[in-house]
Amino acid sequence: KRSRGMQGSAVPSGSGSVGEWEAKELLRSRGIAVPSGTFIPLEASRSPVAPSFAGPYVVKAVSPTLVHKSDAGGVRVGVTDAQSLVAVMADVETSVSTAGHEVTGFIVERMAESGQELVVGAVRVPGVGWSLMVGLGGTMIELLEDVAFGIVPVREDDVRRMLSDLKVVKLLHGFRGAVPADVDGFVELVMNVAGPGGFLESLPENVVEVDLNPVIVGPSSATVVDARLICS
Ligand code: ADP
Ligand code: MG
Repeated sequence: KRSRGMQGSAVPSGSGSVGEWEAKELLRSRGIAVPSGTFIPLEASRSPVAPSFAGPYVVKAVSPTLVHKSDAGGVRVGVTDAQSLVAVMADVETSVSTAGHEVTGFIVERMAESGQELVVGAVRVPGVGWSLMVGLGGTMIELLEDVAFGIVPVREDDVRRMLSDLKVVKLLHGFRGAVPADVDGFVELVMNVAGPGGFLESLPENVVEVDLNPVIVGPSSATVVDARLICS
């Protein structure tokens, strides 16, 4: 069941989860950077689409049962030509439905500049509040377990201290000639999520987990490219 309480975006009043598209709308409304994007319902995906923003594009399946989209062929990055979007959506639909998930539509969004993939996660601890986790994101998260924790609301010093505890921080600062990443932009993004009066504190009580994975931190930007909220 869905209620339309928050800034016109859908957060279910009971248990369930808020999918990528709605979660990103909520983040955007709080001034947190997400890629320009458009939602294309399945029925519309067979006709040409002309995004109002420049590529390269990323195409992602939207499905109520699909959590790890790329495991089911549900994400295609680097689509440079808007004219090939229809064919890419059809391919993505084939993969995802073969994996047993019903596709209801697609997100076509702008590809973020390349950079380091970090995770920003939070869980609500009953009677205590939100606990924040920041670390190496993407698919390396389980393998390398490079994460640091903080208590919400965090202050900027807390975030910088959490970052300095991570091994991945060396990559952010331009390890071995790599281009340094926008660490200040990332700190600002984390403050907008987990600082005083931030995104986490704005969420209704039934939201118990927030998963922003990855946040891509490039040379001049920090952008949330995948997001999900879990309600209980
Ligand atoms: P899932 O975690 O459900 O498999 P994601 O939305 O996290 O799917 O996408 C998988 C990967 O695709 C990301 O870790 C990232 O490397 C890449 N990706 C997704 N969206 C974008 C984007 N807008 N710009 C650049 N890379 C992206
Ligand atoms: Mg993801």
